[in-house]
Amino acid sequence: MRCHSCRVLAVSPICAKCRRIYLTPSPKFRVLPCGLKAVTLFRYENIEPFLLTKHTPRGWLIYRIMARDAFKALSVLDLTGLFVIPVDDKPRWGYSHTAILAKELAKLGCRPLFGRLRAQKRVSYSGKPLSFRIKNPRDFIYRGDGNIDAVLVDDIVTTGLTLQEARQTLQKYGVRVKMAIALADVERER
Ligand SMILES: [Zn+2]
Repeated sequence: MRCHSCRVLAVSPICAKCRRIYLTPSPKFRVLPCGLKAVTLFRYENIEPFLLTKHTPRGWLIYRIMARDAFKALSVLDLTGLFVIPVDDKPRWGYSHTAILAKELAKLGCRPLFGRLRAQKRVSYSGKPLSFRIKNPRDFIYRGDGNIDAVLVDDIVTTGLTLQEARQTLQKYGVRVKMAIALADVERER
């Protein structure tokens, strides 16, 4: 196959050289306006072409590589005893990109909760202003246990509104969200 980035022939969908260049994690922390702490691992501009593959059937391969490379940097965090909840892990194209992230994160000792937190509305926020995002909430529903400690995982953080809304929904069920983990932070680089 060819590397998704540089098109060289490679055994992996992202070649070793491109993984070194674009997928060497550098963790960054941001406190979202709602007070939730978010940690991100990559520069958004470096992984944008990889993120776009979630709209294609082979995106799961790319997301698995990104997750593996990203979460290596989090092995210093003690996630034991926590649950990891992927944000809206409804499968499209036969997989859910956030479920892939949760599965890889679970290797650090937390337990994934698949299919519990789903959005009822899926309007695209891409390129839309904040006012549009506020007017069109995701309307999450949660179907899982309460009285647990959890981390939320998503691919990107933009305004933080999606994570805020997800956390508000979870709080109603007694889920204490300790932090959010995402591959990249879009907002801080614009
Ligand atoms: Zn490459």
